[in-house]
Amino acid sequence: MSKRIGVYPGSFDPIHMGHLDLIERCAQLFDEVHVAVLHNETKKGLFTVQERCDMIREVLVQRGHAEYQVSSFSGLLVDFMDEIGATAVVRGLRAVSDFEFEFQMALMNRKLNPKVETVFMMPKDSYTYLSSRLLKEVGSLGGNLSGLLPDIILQRLTDKLHPKADTASG
Ligand code: ADP
Repeated sequence: MSKRIGVYPGSFDPIHMGHLDLIERCAQLFDEVHVAVLHNETKKGLFTVQERCDMIREVLVQRGHAEYQVSSFSGLLVDFMDEIGATAVVRGLRAVSDFEFEFQMALMNRKLNPKVETVFMMPKDSYTYLSSRLLKEVGSLGGNLSGLLPDIILQRLTDKLHPKADTASG
């Protein structure tokens, strides 16, 4: 039987505990999992796509998951899936509000490639309210985010949002 390859696409700007929870659950379903960072020309993130990929890799290795593939893609997800031989997309459902958009995307992807299946997964209940957008907003206002992002990512986010003044100059 051919390998079951799943893709978990998203912005991951940056990766947080809700994403990680889902990534780790995916391992139960697939022989190979690709975390795919969307390169969106029209939406500039806080972190570059390269930084996001590097952070995901670092966290996964730290958690003992060196077997996951991490890459970026642009254009149609179904084309990227074709390239890597994936047949399933994994998406997270946090609340009913996610459903409408996800439902449309899943059906559009099926229209583009009838072989593509979308699998919806729910994170651990304590992570359902997390989104990268909210974490960046709260972080920029100095809120305590511990436990919501892996420690190394929290440090990167803090450095990015509150760069230290360059004490060497002047
Ligand atoms: P965010 O909304 O945090 O910026 P992305 O746009 O990177 O996330 O989303 C990538 C995928 O991860 C989507 O399928 C999204 O539904 C899922 N996801 C985002 N946050 C969570 C969470 N807290 N729990 C589970 N899945 C999530």
